Amino acid sequence: MDPRLIEPLKKHWGFDSLRPLQGESIAATLAGRDSLTVLPTGGGKSLCYQLPPLVLKRPTLVISPLIALMNDQVASLRVAGIPAAAVHSQMSPEDRAQARELAASGRLRVLLTSPERLLSPGFLDFVARLRPGAIAIDEAHCISHWGHDFRPEYRQLATLRTHPALAALGAPLGAYTATATPRVQQDIVDQLGLRDPAVLVGRFDRPNLTYRIQPRGMVLKQVMAAIQRHRRPVARGVHATIIYCLTRKETSALASDLCAKGFSAAAYHAGMNADERRRVADDFRRERLDIVVATVAFGMGIDRPDVRLILHAGLPESIESYQQQTGRAGRDGLPAECLLLYSSADVARWTRLINSPPAEGEPAPPEVIESRMQHLAEVRSLAGGARCRHRALSEHFGQAYQPADPDRGCAGCDVCLRELAELPESQTVARKVLSCVARITQRGPAMGAGHVADVLMGRRIATVTQRGHDQLSTFGLLPEFERERVIGFIDQLVDEGCLVRAPGQYPTITLGHAAADVLRDERVVRLVEAVLPEDERITDRREGLTTAESEVFEALRLWRRQTAETRGVPPFVIFADTVLEELSRCRPASPETLINIRGVGTRKAEAFGAGVLAVIAEVAARLSLPLDAAPGSRPRSLKPPPAAGLSSGAEAAAEHFRRGAPVLDVAEAMGRKPSTVSGYLTEWIQSERPKSVAPWVPPALYERIDAAARELKTDRLGPIKQHLEADGSGEVPFDQIRIVMTHRRVATQRP
Ligand code: ADP
Ligand code: MG
Repeated sequence: MDPRLIEPLKKHWGFDSLRPLQGESIAATLAGRDSLTVLPTGGGKSLCYQLPPLVLKRPTLVISPLIALMNDQVASLRVAGIPAAAVHSQMSPEDRAQARELAASGRLRVLLTSPERLLSPGFLDFVARLRPGAIAIDEAHCISHWGHDFRPEYRQLATLRTHPALAALGAPLGAYTATATPRVQQDIVDQLGLRDPAVLVGRFDRPNLTYRIQPRGMVLKQVMAAIQRHRRPVARGVHATIIYCLTRKETSALASDLCAKGFSAAAYHAGMNADERRRVADDFRRERLDIVVATVAFGMGIDRPDVRLILHAGLPESIESYQQQTGRAGRDGLPAECLLLYSSADVARWTRLINSPPAEGEPAPPEVIESRMQHLAEVRSLAGGARCRHRALSEHFGQAYQPADPDRGCAGCDVCLRELAELPESQTVARKVLSCVARITQRGPAMGAGHVADVLMGRRIATVTQRGHDQLSTFGLLPEFERERVIGFIDQLVDEGCLVRAPGQYPTITLGHAAADVLRDERVVRLVEAVLPEDERITDRREGLTTAESEVFEALRLWRRQTAETRGVPPFVIFADTVLEELSRCRPASPETLINIRGVGTRKAEAFGAGVLAVIAEVAARLSLPLDAAPGSRPRSLKPPPAAGLSSGAEAAAEHFRRGAPVLDVAEAMGRKPSTVSGYLTEWIQSERPKSVAPWVPPALYERIDAAARELKTDRLGPIKQHLEADGSGEVPFDQIRIVMTHRRVATQRP
């Protein structure tokens, strides 16, 4: 790290290292070079433009699209001890006076403003007199038509380059966004006229998010089940949640249902007046409200970083908007869940909406309709498919995805967590689908997935009969499934390489390289289906704090909220949840140990140290907790722990495994489900590398599994299971195969 950054980073932010690409982005600015920094939500873009002015000792001008975002940022900077001001249409006279005073004194480091204000008469001259060392465009995707938040005023930001006095200063322009599409990125560079910019594109994957996609049934019941997973451990209420609905009516109905059940919930949609909307957004920011049930109108201004659940009660219009909305979960880097409830009705609804002419104004040009339909097809195949969700999202945005542990997959989606149920008769269903595609393509041109589904379901509709597809031997082979599910199977078979979907506007389906093997039964495919959430296999994997630590956390949270109220700022500008968690774990007893906590800078330690230490001392005394515990004693996230460490669940189960207790006994002793404990066992085997796993898998079965793996030259569980069960000698559970495969692998790594 550039040595000039160390001191301000510790003093104002309490960090001693930078996140990926922050260093590169800051270096470009310090060197006077233009830059485009693309980091996912929560990636730490603000630091990239907030740090350089402290080194250059000249202010940075920041363009931001929303007043709420500006105000929060100013509050946050001031709390961290950095002189900052925002200039916009809703300033109070005191704000105005303070901004003027800071500017005049030369102490101002960060000046925020809106694009509208920037272009108002004389403003650029004023900025030029401040001699800014750099100019930052936050949420820069707003400049692009192709983005999701296009704002015409952003188009005029190019004047930052043409204004003579400002141009003469030669301050570099930095653009910052989380938008992943290359088209938007190029647009930003072109529109802003960036010169030879340093383009820094981070990984789009959000490893702290767990994605789930489930068929929609009884919405309220499903919503309740999901919210229950996010109840606060020792306090009232649930963690911050946003529920997205497709219509205003749905938001109001669901919000009042949740209120009736005793939750703190409110609706938010564009039909409400501005005051009501502002109040809901503000209550949510200030932690007075747990749940917002909203349409997409609830958007960019939400910077509350501790949102733990984003629930889509309907299919979003595109993967881009899904990524954007789920991006609001877990900005603080702590685990969060994204649940999408999906039904064929949503597809029909969007199709209707996209194709029907608007109530007023020009109908959309055909290419816009086509592009929207293509986006819909993409998000639908995400929902119907059964590929790792992290992988599917990363690859959609053109990045390869590599899970840390290939065996466990991402460990952060319903697919890799094996929450999906295997479809009975998978192989037969797969063969029927493949045969149908084969018949259709033998007879004429390839058709789309919807048509293939219609034929399989035996629908005697014009598109089918006109082509004579009702005469195919495969017509009506799958009458028992819903159309959307058959399309989902087709998606899964595409993922397996058994089918190929042509790219382009009218994606047709043809046989893939793996189809022949499946049709000859030489290869087994596993089709899965999402299960409704009553299924008890879904558990909350959030195991960050013990109950006692949670008591400390909640006491600190209350203190944070009160302190924030007094200062008139949102709580998250005081300390993030990550900092409160670390404080709850380490429980510093003195200013010396307090300053070691990541996220506690010298400035905040001065301002809040006494308050924090008093809260900690009080709760620790009440619960007889030791102070000054070693930091980082437990993994802090849901992610699979590094090879050496164990999740806290596995750690608790380890003593049982060491004495060879069977999974069922351990499950009973711990009050956990056997499937959960079986996961702990795999983890434990990986880290402990026991000589034998005989207590859990009889040696004879071990031999058979081992032999099958050798014979098939694979470590994939599905084919091994299929192979072992082929002789009719009975079922071999996946769990047992997984135990053996894990043990085989670590046994060979044994030093
Ligand atoms: P973005 O604008 O990219 O969505 P933010 O700038 O709001 O992200 O930062 C998200 C969170 O990450 C904030 O809580 C911030 O304090 C934290 N953060 C940023 N940089 C670092 C760092 N180098 N080390 C630790 N935390 C960081
Ligand atoms: Mg940001």
